[in-house]
Amino acid sequence: MSFILVSEVGPRDGLQSIKRIMPLEAKKRWIAAEAAAGVREIEVGSFVPPSLLPQMADTAELVAFARTIPNLRVVALVPNAKGAARAVEAGVHGMSIPFSMSESHSLRNVRKGHPAMLAEIAAAARIARAGGVHFAVGLSTAFGCTIEGAVPEDRVVRLAEAAVAAGAEELSLSDTTGYADPAQVRRLVRRVRAAVGAERLTTLHLHNTRGLGLANVVAGLEEGITTFDASLGGLGGCPFAPGASGNLVTEDLVLMLNAMGLKTGIDLEKLIAVRTILKEAMPDEPLYGFTPEAGPMRDYHQRIAA
Ligand code: ZN
Repeated sequence: MSFILVSEVGPRDGLQSIKRIMPLEAKKRWIAAEAAAGVREIEVGSFVPPSLLPQMADTAELVAFARTIPNLRVVALVPNAKGAARAVEAGVHGMSIPFSMSESHSLRNVRKGHPAMLAEIAAAARIARAGGVHFAVGLSTAFGCTIEGAVPEDRVVRLAEAAVAAGAEELSLSDTTGYADPAQVRRLVRRVRAAVGAERLTTLHLHNTRGLGLANVVAGLEEGITTFDASLGGLGGCPFAPGASGNLVTEDLVLMLNAMGLKTGIDLEKLIAVRTILKEAMPDEPLYGFTPEAGPMRDYHQRIAA
């Protein structure tokens, strides 16, 4: 039975998209409860300046806390070399830096075009390597951009090669905007893997903005992808489209993978119970996906065992 790694990114991607600040204690309870449900990797925050994203100001404390949980891989996002140094100092197992395939998106978000961003990636990679920390580059807006529209696949392939040359140990393809469709996922995974080697692309970061998230997961699975990012309750939504969900919903992803007979190591009922922590900490924030009232499918456990 193949093992699929479900990487929880809600404490970073989910929380950075909403204005409300989740108290540190609630974040800790969330992380501990997910780890207890069997989640093996959590992106606990982002080393951006707190003046830009006050929601992420406690990331170093969260890393220190999460590192005390056995069998949990603790990762964080870094926007630049400065963030990489803070991540190493905090003691992460791995870090990832977003590299937007859309130059206009990159300029708007980090005020850097592609050449400047590649120089930043190289500098962050050197810091990560010196600190003995795994270094990944997330190719964001790889499937399309809200500003530029279609992003040419040739460009994604070329920039993927450039990111590896700059020091990326691993890449992920990120559907930041929820534009991906299953055929495109297949094509782009194949093309990037052909260019940089299959072992360097094992992760997809998908959003469910337009409801195609799980269909895109299946396309990724069929191409041999083994890690999927997801957010509990699809927390965060989409800042550009009120009412639309954000990341893949972790519960939905785990339900599907377990039901398909793939091994995640995650207990679905324990995972669903973690939603209570989010609801209590942020009662006004909508949660998406799985309907707890419906319960897991009948004979679900027998199916997993079969
Ligand atoms: Zn995202």
